[in-house]
Amino acid sequence: MTCNISDLLRPQLDGPGANLLDAHEVRAAWKKHLAGGLEAPRHLYLHIPFCRQRCSYCCYYSVPSGGGPAVEEYLASLHRAMRFFAPVFAKTPFQTLYIGGGTPSLLTPDQMTRLLEAVYTLYRFEDGGQRTVECNPLSVTKEKLAVLEKSEINRISMGVQSLNRTPLASENRGYQDAGSVGRAVRLVREAGDFRLNLDLLLGMKTDDGKSFLRTFDAIMRLEPDEVTVYTITPMNDYLEKFYSGDPALFRAHLRDRFKEVPLAVRDQARARIHLTQSAPSLDDHAWHFSGGARQSRFNYDDFSPEPASVLGLGPSSRSRAAGVLAYTENIRLPALFDPKKKVYRARRLTLRDEMVKFLVVRICNDIEGVASRFAETFGVEIEAAFPAEVEALREDGLLTGSGARLAFRPRSADERGRCAAGFAAPRGLTLVFPSGRCHLRVEPLRYGRRYLAQTGDLGLLASEEGSLGPRPLARRRLLAALFLKAANVRPAAGARDVADEYARLLEEVAPTLGAQAR
Ligand code: SF4
Repeated sequence: MTCNISDLLRPQLDGPGANLLDAHEVRAAWKKHLAGGLEAPRHLYLHIPFCRQRCSYCCYYSVPSGGGPAVEEYLASLHRAMRFFAPVFAKTPFQTLYIGGGTPSLLTPDQMTRLLEAVYTLYRFEDGGQRTVECNPLSVTKEKLAVLEKSEINRISMGVQSLNRTPLASENRGYQDAGSVGRAVRLVREAGDFRLNLDLLLGMKTDDGKSFLRTFDAIMRLEPDEVTVYTITPMNDYLEKFYSGDPALFRAHLRDRFKEVPLAVRDQARARIHLTQSAPSLDDHAWHFSGGARQSRFNYDDFSPEPASVLGLGPSSRSRAAGVLAYTENIRLPALFDPKKKVYRARRLTLRDEMVKFLVVRICNDIEGVASRFAETFGVEIEAAFPAEVEALREDGLLTGSGARLAFRPRSADERGRCAAGFAAPRGLTLVFPSGRCHLRVEPLRYGRRYLAQTGDLGLLASEEGSLGPRPLARRRLLAALFLKAANVRPAAGARDVADEYARLLEEVAPTLGAQAR
């Protein structure tokens, strides 16, 4: 089992129970959140969906743009959306601002000025929080940086990905080279007191560990304040292009070509810049290195270690009103903001969803002090909120102690994944046969598991561990059929309901299989 946060949380956000809302319904959810939802820092995210050209690996929504009327139309639409939601936040400041994309640095100085003036007219921000704009090395200029500096933007995040032209060219990003990155970094340093983050990408098809480490070393010499290393999240068209559509081939590429990277970057970076993840692994979504003073950071919904709310505006942006609603804005250009259109793909959230997210993100990122922080945040201890899950992990030796001393004890990425899945997915059921035992569980879909059956739309699979006894094929078919029946009986229910239904069906059938259900 791997420890991939997005795999574990995906059913929480996109699985059963999701529906389409319009902007009025979304605004009502924000009112509810502000009136009494979980207290959590709030972040404002604006999406600028234009890029010079499309990089093959990119999983964010953008369209190629050379400027022109489409950008002006989009900015006018974004302004309408900002005006629509602003009254709800009249008394509530945001902690951070993040303008991402796409490529925000494609905006002209005049467009950037107008956008930021609108933001500060309509929304309020706490002092000291991050205000970030994403920039591309080729489109960042002295004039644009002067606008950002004047508008109190205090952080620039620049997508570098690699300094090796071969992988960049094979990923349709051949326009960039080490010289343009060096020039852009100098411009940022000369323009003002920005914190500078450089993004790198791990896993490109024609890249390998040695080349990646050369890039990493050269990047460290540029003395950024932060470095974020992302692992490619392969979308279907990317898998089709390079891996015959097979995610297992991509995972094998990552494991075979980059296996030395996690420990090497940890050691290489340690002397100069702090790594926020003590045990980086190829299964992680991202590693973050940062130095200097800590600021309150923008946290993008699914992956934030603390509960956080994000108001995202723009196509494909993801939002979360903590404890109330998670949604994505499901529109594509040239469609523009229309408050009557049901384009927000949403899922209602409960306090329990926030607790699960808190635990999954902290366990997957190997963050210490989970139990005490959980109690401070939610006013209840982990054992009281999740008694059955805690007991199961204790039996498996993955958890020790109790109360404030409760501690997770995973010894590997695999065990971290099992700990996290213990909260994100329902418990399994063991069928004990005279010949052995088979552990069956319903869990979020992930790569490379031996499984009985899966449901594409629910994002769940039933997997087996251990022996199914005599005639395993026939038994496997029967158990798979029961799982699919459970998923059909409860098509609109959550993973836990499907698991309960599956357990009920298995208990009925266990005696005829000569097994006992436990
Ligand atoms: S420039 Fe960035 S946002 Fe645009 S396609 Fe490339 S990776 Fe995606």
